Amino acid sequence: MKCMVFIERNPIENSLRDVSLELAWKGYSLVKEYGGEVVAFYIGKELPSDVDKLFEYGADKLIHHLDDRLEYLHSEAYKEIVVDMVRQESPDMVLFGATHTGRDIAPLVASILKTGLTADCTQLYLDEYKDKGTILYQKRPAFGGNILATIVTPEDRPMMATVREGVMPLPESGDKKAAVTVAHTMELKNDWFKYTIKEVVPGIKKINLGAHDVIVAGGAGMESKEGFAILHQLADALGGEVAASRAAVDFGFTKKERQVGQTGSVVRPKLYIAVGISGSIQHRAGMEDSKKIIAINKDADAPIFGIANMGIVGDYRDVIPVMIKYLKED
Ligand SMILES: Cc1cc2nc3c(=O)[nH]c(=O)nc-3n(C[C@H](O)[C@H](O)[C@H](O)COP(=O)(O)OP(=O)(O)OC[C@H]3O[C@@H](n4cnc5c(N)ncnc54)[C@H](O)[C@@H]3O)c2cc1C
Repeated sequence: MKCMVFIERNPIENSLRDVSLELAWKGYSLVKEYGGEVVAFYIGKELPSDVDKLFEYGADKLIHHLDDRLEYLHSEAYKEIVVDMVRQESPDMVLFGATHTGRDIAPLVASILKTGLTADCTQLYLDEYKDKGTILYQKRPAFGGNILATIVTPEDRPMMATVREGVMPLPESGDKKAAVTVAHTMELKNDWFKYTIKEVVPGIKKINLGAHDVIVAGGAGMESKEGFAILHQLADALGGEVAASRAAVDFGFTKKERQVGQTGSVVRPKLYIAVGISGSIQHRAGMEDSKKIIAINKDADAPIFGIANMGIVGDYRDVIPVMIKYLKED
């Protein structure tokens, strides 16, 4: 069983993207009991400075194609190189991050290789399928997130999937292996570079919800931006960060980058406090693996209480000030 994993870097820090390590580890977890191999593959101008972490987190080999023209995504060139690497390795599976680059390249590659691709998987596992032997089961939300669909590619190879950042957990330390790095060679045609990038302007630094041990999340029940201000006070008192449900974002109480859930970030903090959030399946998809969940809601029947370790039935206006006062007391 061989799994290839597409590797990306953060251009600002020149470090591996979190999703790349998460996928290397996932690939390793999938194939290890079959004595399989994980081949990481990378395209760019230079290798990320922490590239050795790939070997700690499951990769057996890294294939890279380095060229100054490949510093930023050129779909045509990336597609041709990936197809060539995949044909050389003949893997059973290829995993991509559901990043801008992964979402661009993976479908192009799948259509050339005439195989299936499942986007935004939330679970991947190997199991028997009819008379096809062991294949990859790919689970993802479907029909507006109301059901979890299980998708398989029984006939064609490789089996391909994309996975969003933060969905596959990464352990604190990996399983150190010897590093094998191989340079891929191929002539790059000028036609593949259809545009020239003159300037790259770094975006405003986004809030990284995944980096916080404590998250205080607010929902439609906060009723206003002012409601969110009190959540910021609680998060500050706990040394945490503020997140939100999609309804709270849609109402304009806070920014989209704070959204947790199926179409927001996936988080697993030590403590997730859900305030005025009903607990829809789409919200739970982004937070239900948190170590401890405290729910505060004025409706005792709110579904969020079904996954909470501790529940407080009450109006947030009464509950949160008491918590802040308690936390600030000497
Ligand atoms: C394809 C798709 C993707 C989606 N992706 C996401 C996603 O990524 N993230 C996400 O969150 N949602 C997502 N949704 C939306 C999701 O279905 C729900 O609509 C949303 O999660 C509801 O948000 P909420 O719990 O804040 O609001 P509501 O469901 O309206 O719940 C508000 C809660 O606040 C409580 N409340 C009211 N006032 C108070 C008060 N004063 N004190 C305490 N409690 C109070 C109420 O009892 C209620 O339980 C998605 C939907 C679809 C179709």
